[in-house]
Amino acid sequence: MRMVLLGAPGSGKGTQGEKLVAHFGIPKISTGDALRAAVAAGTELGRKAKSAMDAGQLVANEIVIGIVEERLGQPDAQKGFILDGFPRNTAQARVLDEMLVRLGQPPIDKAVHLAVDDEEIIQRLLDRAQKEGRADDKEDVIRHRIKVYNDETHPLLDYYAAQHKVVKVDGVGSLDDIFQRILKALK
Ligand code: AMP
Repeated sequence: MRMVLLGAPGSGKGTQGEKLVAHFGIPKISTGDALRAAVAAGTELGRKAKSAMDAGQLVANEIVIGIVEERLGQPDAQKGFILDGFPRNTAQARVLDEMLVRLGQPPIDKAVHLAVDDEEIIQRLLDRAQKEGRADDKEDVIRHRIKVYNDETHPLLDYYAAQHKVVKVDGVGSLDDIFQRILKALK
């Protein structure tokens, strides 16, 4: 199973992605996690990414594409993977399709859309800001990240719809209910 998780920040991609990892026994690849690790480690890549991340902007395509290509080439990703937070725009989606050909991997099977409305998203992110204190979880940055999602990432639904790969799941409810909806939708 080669899967892309699509949804606004705070829609539950990370949490549901972890459940999918346990269920399918394939790795989750999160560009956000990889970038935060690079920032924490103070690598050059982390330094390049930090200001865009703190402002709620997208990091340059070549940075995230490099991260994903390196990760998809590793042995544990050959039988399948769950992409969380990548692709984030149509340019990245096109590169991903080409990358899979180059790596000798089959194409993406499904793009799972976790649908949650904007007001619910803002509330969830504000709650997360209090609990985790992520630098990009301040209200003005949150609003900007949602705008970036709507402007740049949401159009990916059309990209994957054209390939008949979109599976839409209601992302509001208990974690287990949402997970069962995803499994049902993937059947
Ligand atoms: P996330 O944890 O997925 O919400 O990502 C946190 C931040 O990392 C985003 O707001 C972006 O600044 C950056 N980021 C993560 N994935 C990507 C991507 N595919 N393209 C560009 N920037 C990304």
